[in-house]
Amino acid sequence: MPKNKLVPVILCLLLIFGNLPALETANADNGSLTITATSLNVRQGPGLSYPVAGSVKKGEKYSIVKEEGDWIQISLGGSKKGWVAEWFTSKDTSKPSVSKNSNGTSGSITANGLRVRKGPGTNYQVVGSLNSGQAVEILSTNGNWSEVRTPAIHGWVSKEYIRFSGSNASSAPAAGSSNAASKGIVTADSLNVREKPSLNANTIGQLKKGAEAAVLSQSNGWAEISFAGKKAWVSAQFLKVNGNTSSDSVKPTAPAEQYSGKVTASQLNVRDRNALDGRVIGSVSQGQSFLILEEQNNWVKIEFKTGKTGWAAGWFFDKTKNGPAAAPNQPVKNSSVKVLHNGTNIRKGPSTGTTVIHRANQGDTFNVVSIKNDWYEISLPNGAVGFVAGWIVSIQGNVPQIEKPGAEKHTKNKTVVIDPGHGGRDNGTTGVRGTLEKTLTLKTAQLLYDKLRASGTNVVLTRNNDTYISLPSRVSSSHYHSADAFISLHYDSINDRSVRGMTTYYYNSKQKPLGEQIHSSVVSKTMLKDRGTRFGDYHVIRENRQSAILLELGYLSNPAEEMLVSTPQYQETVANGIFEGLARYFKNY
Ligand SMILES: [Zn+2]
Repeated sequence: MPKNKLVPVILCLLLIFGNLPALETANADNGSLTITATSLNVRQGPGLSYPVAGSVKKGEKYSIVKEEGDWIQISLGGSKKGWVAEWFTSKDTSKPSVSKNSNGTSGSITANGLRVRKGPGTNYQVVGSLNSGQAVEILSTNGNWSEVRTPAIHGWVSKEYIRFSGSNASSAPAAGSSNAASKGIVTADSLNVREKPSLNANTIGQLKKGAEAAVLSQSNGWAEISFAGKKAWVSAQFLKVNGNTSSDSVKPTAPAEQYSGKVTASQLNVRDRNALDGRVIGSVSQGQSFLILEEQNNWVKIEFKTGKTGWAAGWFFDKTKNGPAAAPNQPVKNSSVKVLHNGTNIRKGPSTGTTVIHRANQGDTFNVVSIKNDWYEISLPNGAVGFVAGWIVSIQGNVPQIEKPGAEKHTKNKTVVIDPGHGGRDNGTTGVRGTLEKTLTLKTAQLLYDKLRASGTNVVLTRNNDTYISLPSRVSSSHYHSADAFISLHYDSINDRSVRGMTTYYYNSKQKPLGEQIHSSVVSKTMLKDRGTRFGDYHVIRENRQSAILLELGYLSNPAEEMLVSTPQYQETVANGIFEGLARYFKNY
C-alpha cells in the first residue's frame, strides 16, 4: 500500500472503531517485549500448568497487556492474548510513552565508570559503562534516568551524571568532549583503526607504535580518536592515554573499583567474546587469580596470558575487591544511598531474615557506614545504624553499586544431589559413534557441580568417577542428604536413528514442578527438540522421597545429536540450563 494512502485508511478505521486510540495507548503504556528463546510456548494462563495456546519465536516483538509474577500477558494481534514466561523475554526499554526527545539532545558524561543499564533503574542489567567526557545522544528521560546512545552502546544511566548541552547534537559539537581531547600513544606494533567500535567494523587505516592520536572518548574497551580529520575507533587496550589540562578531558579507563577473581572450576575456557558460542582461545585452571578488566552479562574479561585477554564465565570466579577502601566492613567515606521506593525496609542486620527497624521512603538519603555482603550499613536519623539491601538503592559517592543477586541467590544453601547415570561395568547406552553414556553423564554432572558449588549450593555427586553404584544407593544418597532436588542425568537411545530431543521424567506430582522448570530452561537454552515432561517409572525417582527427576539429555542413537551433545559447548549450555531451572524452581517452590 502506498504511504500516502495510509492516512485516510487510519481515519476510516478511527471512525469505525471509536475505541482504537484508547487501545493503542493502553498497550503503549505497558510497553513491549522481545522474545529471547528460540521458540517459546504461549499459555492460556500465567503458569506452566496452563494449556499451551500457541508459540512465538525469537526476535518477535509483542505489546504487554499485563504482568503477574514471572509471567507476562502479551497481545497476539486482534483480541488474542496469551501468557509467556518473563525469563524468556526482554522488555523493550524505550517505551513510546516516556518523554521522548525527538530533537536529539546531547550531553556528556561526568563520571568515570558510569554504569549503563538495560532500563531506567538499578534493578536492570548492566550493559556496559561510560567514562567522564564521553559525548552521548540523549533519547529520552524517565524519572532520574536518561536513555542515552553512543556509537558503541545504548542504554540507561543516572541523569545525575550527565551534563546536558542543549539540542541539535547532529550539528553542534558535543560540549566538553570532542574539543577537549586527551592524547593517546599507540603501544602495539600496528593498531587497526576502525569505522566503529567493533572488531567486525571496517578497517580504515593503521597506526604504528608510538603514533599519537587525539582521544575523544572511551567506551567498552574502545577509544574514539580523531583520524585523518574523521572520527574513528581503536582498541583502547593498545593506547596509552595521557591526562589533559582541560577538566573535561577523557581520563584513561580506570574503573572506580577493581575486582580480582579466583577460578573455582577445575578447568575453564577463555573465549573471544562474552558468550558460550564465542571461540575458545585459551583456558585457566582452578585457583588461578586474575584482575577483572571488565564485566558484562555475568562474563568477565581477564588477561589470561601476558598480553592476551579474553572472556570467561563469571560464575566460575570467586570475586574479591582490590584495595583497602573496598575491604569488607570498611567504613565508606562520603558516600550515601538514596532509597528508590516508598516503604523500603531498613533492617537490623544484612539479611532479609532480620527485623525491620525502620521504613524509608523514595528519595530518603542515608550515609553509608560500611558494606556487608550485598547490604549497605547506613546511619539512621536517630543515630542508630541499620541495613538496606544494596540493589534497591541508588548510590552517591564512591561506594560501589551492589548488583541484585542473580540465580545464585535462590540456589544458595540448598542441597542438590546430582546423579550421573550408570558407571563402572554399566556403560549405559553406547552412541552410534561410540560415545559411552556413563562418560557423558559424568561430564555433565561435574560441570553442573562446579556451577552450583560456585553459587554456594551444597552439592553432592552420587559418583565422581567411573564406578558402579547401585540404584538403591543412589536413592539413599538423596534421602541421607535430604536433597532439595535430586537430578539423575542420562542420555537416550532408541532403535531409530532419526529420533532426537530431550525428555524429562518425574514419578509423582511433588516432583513435577522441578521437572517442568528444569525441562523448559534446558530446552530453551540447548534448542533440543522438546519431547516433554512426563511420568516415568524409574527406580531413582520412584523410590525417592525427595523432589527427584530424571533427565534424558539427547539421543546418542542419533548420529547428529550424538555429535552435538558431546561438544564442550553443549555440555556447558546444558549445565547452565539445569542451573537456571533449579534457581527458578527454588525461587517459586
Ligand atoms: Zn541412562
